[in-house]
Amino acid sequence: MGCPGSILLEKGEPDNGSDFADEGTAAHFLASECLIGNVHPATYLSRAIRVSDAYTGWEKDRPEGSGGTHWVVTAEMESHVNTYVQAVRKYAEGGTLFVEQRLPITPWTGEPDACGTSDAVILTGDGELIVVDLKYGMGEQVSPERNKQLMIYALAAHEEFSLVGDITSARLVIHQPRVHHAPLEWPCSLDELHAFGEEVKMAARVAVECYNEGHEVLAPSDAACRWCKAGKNAKCPARDKQLTEAIGADFDDLTKPDAQLPPVGEGPTLAQKMAACDLIEKWIKAVRGKVEAELFAGNAVPGYKLVQGKKGNRQWLDEADAEATLKSMRLKVEEMYSMKVISPTSAEKIFGEKGTAPSVKRWNKLQSLITQKDGGPSVAPESDKRPVYVLNVAENFDDETGSDMA
Ligand code: SF4
Repeated sequence: MGCPGSILLEKGEPDNGSDFADEGTAAHFLASECLIGNVHPATYLSRAIRVSDAYTGWEKDRPEGSGGTHWVVTAEMESHVNTYVQAVRKYAEGGTLFVEQRLPITPWTGEPDACGTSDAVILTGDGELIVVDLKYGMGEQVSPERNKQLMIYALAAHEEFSLVGDITSARLVIHQPRVHHAPLEWPCSLDELHAFGEEVKMAARVAVECYNEGHEVLAPSDAACRWCKAGKNAKCPARDKQLTEAIGADFDDLTKPDAQLPPVGEGPTLAQKMAACDLIEKWIKAVRGKVEAELFAGNAVPGYKLVQGKKGNRQWLDEADAEATLKSMRLKVEEMYSMKVISPTSAEKIFGEKGTAPSVKRWNKLQSLITQKDGGPSVAPESDKRPVYVLNVAENFDDETGSDMA
């Protein structure tokens, strides 16, 4: 929606997945199995999930040669998925739950047979449509407010289910259990949804026109470029232009004697340089990734080659063999094993989420033993929603009246 030319520019670009994305897919699969089968995620502890382009499901059922990555349901995954599953069940009490619901979006995008898949759609008994999205990432917090992905799912769900029940309002929910125990919600009127639907139609028309006529109408922005394959693969001229404008220079070789440098003291201010940092960092990441991908694919990038990287950490070939050998060397228990008390996070997993009265009592008792440092100051743009960090001047400067002033 943000960049009409991106569809043309992304065409044919590889969809470079990541372990983070695959882990998220595995967690989504586990969540859907639990919601559909009405079981607790702990049922699947230690079971393995396969994630590939062609197949996502239990490892034991995977078709031969499906490739992809392998994920074991650990206690950590079980705990986070359980938080999400419990929340969805709570939303669905007294209503109807649809899990991994495919939703046609053709009426808005115009693409034949286009569909989205919503993690959970709920029709409550009192006419509310709830669209829930599980985000398994723990990096950036995603907000449901005017979230385009969820708004289009809600539109499609409204279209799909309005015959089943009288829907009068909608609620968009993002649950990111590794960041927030409780889901984030955004109530949304049907009028807002339909107005958004018109925006989608308009953006889709412009994008399709660009695509059909071969125009690259590029409109770079953080929101648009973030997930764009052209940007990630360092293929976008608009991003390159933005970068050269931001750093105020072209790709001149500054080691050459005729290189043009601004006089000392002129050129961009510190704030202007800071504003360019984010863009430069993303651009560097994209260029490094693209060069690596080219070399892995056997394509030459003049001046660069693949070499063996740094060795990994040493580990025992077989822990049981190592343990037996160490024992035979008569090592003391405290020499052989490293044991330390569990962290508050691990304790919370044991007591905090079980919800039974004795567990809650024990967890409450532990709470008084926990301390947590405040976050240190960090630089953010002025538009950031967090309040300004108040520096404690007394702590940051020496007492100028003292004799040992540095
Ligand atoms: S990187 Fe940004 S500007 Fe370039 S095509 Fe993608 S979304 Fe558009």
